[in-house]
Amino acid sequence: MSEIRQFLATKICLVCGKPASFGFGVRLTEGKLGRWYCADHREDQPKTRESAKK
Ligand SMILES: [Zn+2]
Repeated sequence: MSEIRQFLATKICLVCGKPASFGFGVRLTEGKLGRWYCADHREDQPKTRESAKK
């Protein structure tokens, strides 16, 4: 399980690559790492991927 531990220590946002604090679909007991996002891109926000550009 060292791969999961390493992943949790280095998880980043799938959208912008910043450190991620919000995980979705995570089932470590099943080996599922899920999808991770920072506060700006977590999935429970409205779909605003296009507006993420600066
Ligand atoms: Zn992000």
